[in-house]
Amino acid sequence: MKIYNSLTDKIEEFKPIKENEVTMYVCGPTVYNYVHIGNMRPVITFDMVYKYFKYLGYKVTYASNFTDINPKIITMAKEMGITEREVADKFIDAYLKDLESYNCSNIDERPTVIEHLDDIFTFIKKLIEKDYAYEKDGDVYFRVNKIKDYGILSNQNILELESGSRVEIDDKKEDPLDFALWRKTTEGEQFLSPWGKGIPGWHTECVVMINSIFGNKIDIHGGGVDLKFPHHENEIAQSMALNNNHLANYWMHNGHINVNGEKMSKSLGNFILAKDFIKMHDANIIKIALFKTHYRLPLNFTDELFNEANIINDKIKNGLKQANIYLNTNQIDNNFNIKDTTFEEYMNDDFNTPNVISYLIELVKNLNSELRNNGNNIVNITKKIVTITSVLGLKYDLPKWEKDDFENYNKWQEYRNLKNFEKADMYRKKLIEKNII
Ligand SMILES: [Zn+2]
Repeated sequence: MKIYNSLTDKIEEFKPIKENEVTMYVCGPTVYNYVHIGNMRPVITFDMVYKYFKYLGYKVTYASNFTDINPKIITMAKEMGITEREVADKFIDAYLKDLESYNCSNIDERPTVIEHLDDIFTFIKKLIEKDYAYEKDGDVYFRVNKIKDYGILSNQNILELESGSRVEIDDKKEDPLDFALWRKTTEGEQFLSPWGKGIPGWHTECVVMINSIFGNKIDIHGGGVDLKFPHHENEIAQSMALNNNHLANYWMHNGHINVNGEKMSKSLGNFILAKDFIKMHDANIIKIALFKTHYRLPLNFTDELFNEANIINDKIKNGLKQANIYLNTNQIDNNFNIKDTTFEEYMNDDFNTPNVISYLIELVKNLNSELRNNGNNIVNITKKIVTITSVLGLKYDLPKWEKDDFENYNKWQEYRNLKNFEKADMYRKKLIEKNII
């Protein structure tokens, strides 16, 4: 199994910390609004990563947080005329619904900031004790220049960053690169800390959650490429300070999403909420559209891409429906999971899903030809397709027939053979209603 590691910029052999176990963490949403389909790329990508490790037989523990304390939530609470907790709860619920409707709910741990406040205080205190952080007028900042390899993830060095104009001068900080671990607030939700009332900085919550859920290091840390700097860089800096490690052995980043060549944004009107998208399309469509491009590459959402994904989805769906008739009429169990070496070869190459999608299309073609010729490989190919699609998180129903279904199916065939099309049609309709043909 080879993974591209953003930390080293190399394709590396995956070696878990504990044999046969994988620990992974992916930065979750700030819960102040509904998420858009661009936000679904990390969700879908790391769901596939999770499912593939499971397929390989690893015990996987997957954590993804909710940023439920944040200035954006304070602003939204004011706008909506409700409390920050009400805002956070509302959008946590909405996000959980999105995960459900996109078949991406396999997250084992979903920590929130509010339940980790004490851990955050302890963590910041340790940083201050070790002189990696300092308090200034109720704020606490991290001393970036104490971290020798700061910039390792985003391939920048401290000198460049110091002289760059990207960092705004802030009077309270000793150095413009320093970032807030704790911030004094005078409005909205405030929490009492050893440094007075305020809220924690965003960069500190993920490290604290990882440390308290998994211990001081995990196998895989994931997120969108836009989080590399400063968020992930700052997570690493804190982990270097307290634990002298880079927090995760493998850092994985998925590429951007554009819509028709433009960045998705509210002002451009190409902003599609995940919950609205799913009303019009099957979740399979967006997944196939995403998997046709390697997860690390930028991706452009176009109507053409969705049409292609739609066609591929229909091909798989129809092939499996035909195969399911064969399975049921031959009383073959459809509950299977098998190993497929070609699939593994592609996936072990840093999750090469574009190759997997081409391979799936090929398998469906073979399946159709086997079905036409009543060949010997129908079950075997069906098993492969079912296994691969389920690892990709694609959902296809292969219902087990009930007694009625067999009767209706046999009657349909009988009347068709008798050329009694009126009666045959009656049974056909029943079968279509139950999604059998
Ligand atoms: Zn994070």
